[in-house]
Amino acid sequence: CSCKRNIDNNTDSSNSKHPCYSFDAQHKYARLHLPVAPHCNISCNYCNRKFDCLHESRPGVTSEILNPMEALLRFQKVKERIENLSVVGIAGPGDALANWANVRKTIDLIQKSDPDILFCLSTNGLMLPEYAAEIIGLGLKHVTVTVNCLDQEIGAKIYEFVNYKGSRYWGKEAAQILIGNQLEGIAYLSHHGVLVKVNIVMVEGINDHHVPDIVRKVRDLGAFMTNIMPLIPAKGSSFEHYPETNIIKLNEMRKKCQTDLLQMYHCRQCRADAVGLLGNDRSLEFTEQVQK
Ligand code: SF4
Ligand code: SF4
Repeated sequence: CSCKRNIDNNTDSSNSKHPCYSFDAQHKYARLHLPVAPHCNISCNYCNRKFDCLHESRPGVTSEILNPMEALLRFQKVKERIENLSVVGIAGPGDALANWANVRKTIDLIQKSDPDILFCLSTNGLMLPEYAAEIIGLGLKHVTVTVNCLDQEIGAKIYEFVNYKGSRYWGKEAAQILIGNQLEGIAYLSHHGVLVKVNIVMVEGINDHHVPDIVRKVRDLGAFMTNIMPLIPAKGSSFEHYPETNIIKLNEMRKKCQTDLLQMYHCRQCRADAVGLLGNDRSLEFTEQVQK
């Protein structure tokens, strides 16, 4: 389809080695997710904090948490054993930027060990105005931001609260701060050459009608692609009793939005400690190899 062609025709060579940004690369290049980000600074109603961050991860799978030195050892071990490891991603189990000191240190250690490895960060975007310049300074080319709405009324139904600069905000006020920072961060990163993927969790009856508006807005801000994802209701979350997003409706939405912006169709909603090719997770081979 045109989406797949567009992904693989894009001229940035770093994309051709990123299994999420390139449809073809998913079969050739492996990624390693390092679970170095345990905390989160917001509360999404679809999240159950016992499990991995739902904006990048499948519910029901807890991850061990690594410190930066343990993360370096995991990286070295995986690199020895897995061919074509091209990307190190930080995708939770909380938010990458709510654990910035850990994440930064991890990137620094791994870059010294392997200057050619690509990094990929996943964030809810709250702290992007604070850290986007540092992300660019570190040479990162891939950032994923989860944006579920542009409207604070809808946001108040999706987010319970936001912890920002020492205060907790609720409802519409929380959503307004979060959305403003997400959009500012996406524009800044895109303007500085970062390929921004925007994840959108499609929740029927809450933001589904609004998804095309989000896609067009982030396109106008310079985002590279969107990844419209299903809601997977997590036990213990406020959305526990919501229906899982219908996959036919989800794919119809992706097709509809494809005329506005490149869409991702091959997301596997990976664990925060995923290892290997997208379709062949090998994380269990590597967990508990780094003892505290
Ligand atoms: Fe949970 Fe991720 Fe939302 Fe944080 S950003 S509350 S970890 S789903
Ligand atoms: Fe790629 Fe989706 Fe897995 Fe993230 S969750 S690494 S975007 S396939």
